[in-house]
Amino acid sequence: MNPVHVIGGGLAGSEATWQIARRGVPVILHEMRPERGTDAHKTDRLAELVCSNSFRSDDREHNAVGLLHEELRRADSLIMRMGDANQVPAGGALAVDRDNFSAAVTATLESVDQVSIARGEIAGLPPAEWDSVIVATGPLTSLALSAAIRELTGEDALAFFDAIAPIVYFDSIDMNVAWFQSRYDKAGPAGNGADYLNCPLDRPEYDAFVDALLSGEKTEFREWEANTPYFDGCLPIEVMAERGRETLRYGPMKPVGLTNPHRPEEKPYAVVQLRRDNALGTLYNMVGFQTKLKYGAQTEILRTIPGLGGAQFARLGGLHRNTFLNSPKLLDPTLRLKALPRLRFAGQITGCEGYVESAAIGLLAGRFAAGERLGEEIAMPPATTAFGALLGHITAGHISADEPGRRSFQPMNVNFGLFPQVEVPRVQGKKLRGSDKALARKRAITTRALADLDDWLSRATAEAAE
Ligand SMILES: Cc1cc2nc3c(=O)[nH]c(=O)nc-3n(C[C@H](O)[C@H](O)[C@H](O)COP(=O)(O)OP(=O)(O)OC[C@H]3O[C@@H](n4cnc5c(N)ncnc54)[C@H](O)[C@@H]3O)c2cc1C
Repeated sequence: MNPVHVIGGGLAGSEATWQIARRGVPVILHEMRPERGTDAHKTDRLAELVCSNSFRSDDREHNAVGLLHEELRRADSLIMRMGDANQVPAGGALAVDRDNFSAAVTATLESVDQVSIARGEIAGLPPAEWDSVIVATGPLTSLALSAAIRELTGEDALAFFDAIAPIVYFDSIDMNVAWFQSRYDKAGPAGNGADYLNCPLDRPEYDAFVDALLSGEKTEFREWEANTPYFDGCLPIEVMAERGRETLRYGPMKPVGLTNPHRPEEKPYAVVQLRRDNALGTLYNMVGFQTKLKYGAQTEILRTIPGLGGAQFARLGGLHRNTFLNSPKLLDPTLRLKALPRLRFAGQITGCEGYVESAAIGLLAGRFAAGERLGEEIAMPPATTAFGALLGHITAGHISADEPGRRSFQPMNVNFGLFPQVEVPRVQGKKLRGSDKALARKRAITTRALADLDDWLSRATAEAAE
């Protein structure tokens, strides 16, 4: 049997390699370290954690990443098995001893018969005779390989920097203050004239907002990020505010072409617009609001915007050095590049964010590649599972609103906004409210996810046995 080639021995590549090997398919894992390093990795080990040692919350009932942990465990993930085996105390989070964790992943993969580990950079497109390849080279993909991918996919298809605007859960927006309307009621090619959510600010509110942006605590670029250029189209809101007090009113907070139906006689001084981000309609993106404010400052300042007082954020803003594809356009549902299907992508380069999410997409890519090699029909994870929800964000769920030189698809952690909605169960015939309702909704989503996951896994096992 021809081997599957996996490029990149990080979180995604290590997990993909394990998943392929456990199906009895030979796999060659190519890792460029130690021959060539990155700006963040420090060792030659596989699955090195480049920053925090936390896999975040392990609460599988009420937290989307905790649910993803559990799904990974049930699907026999190597990353989760070694994470669990190398835990350090961290309250409700799962944190690991980083050295022992990556040493254990490395030793396990080195000991598996079907796995060969080849050290060295893949410095261009993989040779044509490699008929099944998983590219899992992460946010710091080597320049030679990213240049080759860019040439293949097109100038706008691979970004070297993310410019993340915050995303708000729709049901946390106060619709007594906000209203739906597109600027000048324009419907555009796919809209209905009421596609944006608008939050109005009067002059004192706008002035206070600008002051807060100017004084809010910002994160610094890392030393090696500082020289990466970013363009005027992607300026953080606090940098726009620094350029002049009115700059935001002429940029993302323009009040023109909008009438507030709650107070039609009053012209708003500035307006924040949110655009629907996913097909489910659960997530709204704050248009043009990319920011490098620290997370604490961000939530505090953004909640001063009328209508967002109780906002819950599925994603906070940021700007980082990153390498990621415009996946909804480029990848098919099983993560293969439409233009060259022998290449499949996994991990952060697909537009997920975080160690656990990268491992999960590595797991799926590994299962898909192994199944394909064994001639099986690929069974997709249900959209109701965390696997399916995350895969949906990458390949289908996001509503694209690209502008020239600026793309709307940005990396995302797993979150409950990516799941199809559920009916919140009543208690003794009564509707729940407030935090009881929020917790019951999360429990309903996670219970449904794990039942559907078990069904998917058992069907896949039965089919493989036939
Ligand atoms: C500075 C920094 C800090 C971060 N902090 C956190 C954090 O605290 N928590 C969190 O959850 N996430 C964090 N992330 C995101 C994190 O990197 C990813 O979530 C995760 O490591 C991505 O997994 P991956 O497998 O896609 O990529 P990686 O884990 O980066 O693995 C990619 C591998 O590919 C190798 N490689 C690259 N190019 C080639 C090539 N051409 N040939 C062969 N091998 C190659 C690299 O050496 C690397 O080993 C951080 C990212 C960065 C850059």
